[in-house]
Amino acid sequence: MTKNGGTKLVHGVLSCLLALTLQATRAHAQPLPESVQAAIDQCERLEYAEPAEALRIADHGLTLDPQMTPAQRGLLLACRAWSQMQTGEMNEAREQTLEIDRLAGEMADPDDPRDRVGLLIRLASLHYRGGDPVSALEVMDRALELTRSHGLDEDLPHVLGNLAIYLTESGQFKPAIEHFERILELAEGNPSAASPQVPVRYNLARALLLDDRPEEALPHLQWLISAMESAKDPRLATAVSMTGSAWRKLGDFEQAEQYLNRAQALHQQFDNPGELSGLRGEQALLALDRGRLAEAEAYARQALSLARSIEYERSILEALTQLVDILALRGNYAEALTLHREYAERNQTFLEENQRSRLDALESQLGMERQAREIDELRQTSAVQQLQLRQESFRRQMAWVALLAVLVMALLISILQRAQQQRLLRVSRTDGLTGLANRRHLTFQIQGSASTRGNRLLMLLDLDHFKQVNDRWGHDIGDRVLLEVSGVLRRVAEANGAMCGRWGGEEFALFLPGTDAQAAASLAEQLRREIADLQVEDGAGGRLSITASLGFAPVEGLRRDSGQELWEPALKCADQLLYRAKHAGRNRGFGVWPAHPGTEVNPLAMDAALDSGELQLLSVPARSPD
Ligand code: GH3
Ligand code: MG
Ligand code: MG
Repeated sequence: MTKNGGTKLVHGVLSCLLALTLQATRAHAQPLPESVQAAIDQCERLEYAEPAEALRIADHGLTLDPQMTPAQRGLLLACRAWSQMQTGEMNEAREQTLEIDRLAGEMADPDDPRDRVGLLIRLASLHYRGGDPVSALEVMDRALELTRSHGLDEDLPHVLGNLAIYLTESGQFKPAIEHFERILELAEGNPSAASPQVPVRYNLARALLLDDRPEEALPHLQWLISAMESAKDPRLATAVSMTGSAWRKLGDFEQAEQYLNRAQALHQQFDNPGELSGLRGEQALLALDRGRLAEAEAYARQALSLARSIEYERSILEALTQLVDILALRGNYAEALTLHREYAERNQTFLEENQRSRLDALESQLGMERQAREIDELRQTSAVQQLQLRQESFRRQMAWVALLAVLVMALLISILQRAQQQRLLRVSRTDGLTGLANRRHLTFQIQGSASTRGNRLLMLLDLDHFKQVNDRWGHDIGDRVLLEVSGVLRRVAEANGAMCGRWGGEEFALFLPGTDAQAAASLAEQLRREIADLQVEDGAGGRLSITASLGFAPVEGLRRDSGQELWEPALKCADQLLYRAKHAGRNRGFGVWPAHPGTEVNPLAMDAALDSGELQLLSVPARSPD
């Protein structure tokens, strides 16, 4: 009996507390708010008195800003859900509660933790109102942890207060009382926080009564009554009713009756069927304690019909139990049984609903955990994939780099090879000491020379007594002489459009296409003179000079035997003429030239041809320098 009466009291007080926490303003068709925050405030102001209007504002608020924070969205949804609970749309409200649970879990640490605490408090109240006090408690534990870990001292009383209410609801009176007392202690240190003491003392007194400590509850109730009388607080009726309950528990039925009567008088002013149902229940208990069964039955019946009128399931269940007990005591078993059956059915539905809410909450939590795990796994997978992609792209880059390197290397090698080949070619064509074309290359050039206007000339040039230069000044000086002579030869050849080369040792050759006897003789003379004019340093501070002997012959006008190279007859004649020059005293030259075009002289019969006038002898210089 006592327990029943206590629980009834709780519901009266709780709805009173909730009404107190959020003050309802009567208003119709409010202008729609322009900001999300305004929508939250306006909705929360209206959710009790005008739930349909609050719902409209919440719906509008949700469309205002797609960028709103999870906390803002959560608060709008909470207000929406609360309004729906007021209008009886419990299932929709429960679904939204789970959505809010998800949002509260989503809010990351960098978010304002106060917003999150606020949302958790709202969420807990929705869980509780949806019939799931266990989830409500869990959510408040989260809120308390967050408040403590972020040092949110301002929010601590509010969080502790809500936590303590749900503790009370789930029958854990002692920790609830401790929390309420802690809030009062905190308020003592802060005199400006006087008004929140009203709901705290309310709930503390209620918890004390439920814990069968009426003598401790009384001072708080007395404090409340005087505070509420001066403030003309509509909840005074409940405080007075609770005081009556305390006196009844202490066995002072006179006092109890006085307070309950006073509460009844106050209720007539306030007209709150829920509260009145609680009072009737309390009056029934007092009548029972006094042994006035008929009176108790009458009160219990009123309590039940008031509870039915507000369709508050908990109140209905409590009123039913009380009435069943009283009817049984009075021997009205038939009606007691009928009502008990109703009680059993309602209670089962109620418990099932509660269980379903709890299961939904658990399922949603499980879903969130699974989701979090899946997201984590996805993140890991994507990290691995990114790593693989990076490795793959690195490998590809490396492959490209390697390919490029190979190409560059190949190019370099080919360039080097070409350079090497050209160098080798150059080396194979030139004489190492003088840099002139070597004999092989020069003959190759002569061979490939196209016939031009005029005859072609082959000239041989041999340094005179060169052995003596080596013997006297050494081979280095001999080399220097060879170099300087080759310089003269190159310059003169270039100036005359001739090709020249080193024929071997101290002997040089020159080939001039498109020339005649006159030009041939003057070229020979120019060479002879310029070589004779050379002044070569002898390496001992002095200078030495050198002379050269020359022999020259044309390519056309000499007979070529079958199998002979183009230049061979001319070479033979030039060689004979060079020998003649040596014999004639050196530093001179001789050449032959056909007297008439179309002549074909056998080189071996050159002397006879000279005698016969077929060939003309050319002397260089024209007159002997000796
Ligand atoms: P001649 O007037 O009859 O031609 O007398 P010569 O001394 O020039 O002729 P000979 O054939 O007797 O000697 C040629 C010398 O040229 C022999 C050789 O040592 C020298 N000689 C050949 N090639 C080189 C060379 O590359 N460098 C040097 N320093 N001497 C060379
Ligand atoms: Mg020689
Ligand atoms: Mg010589």
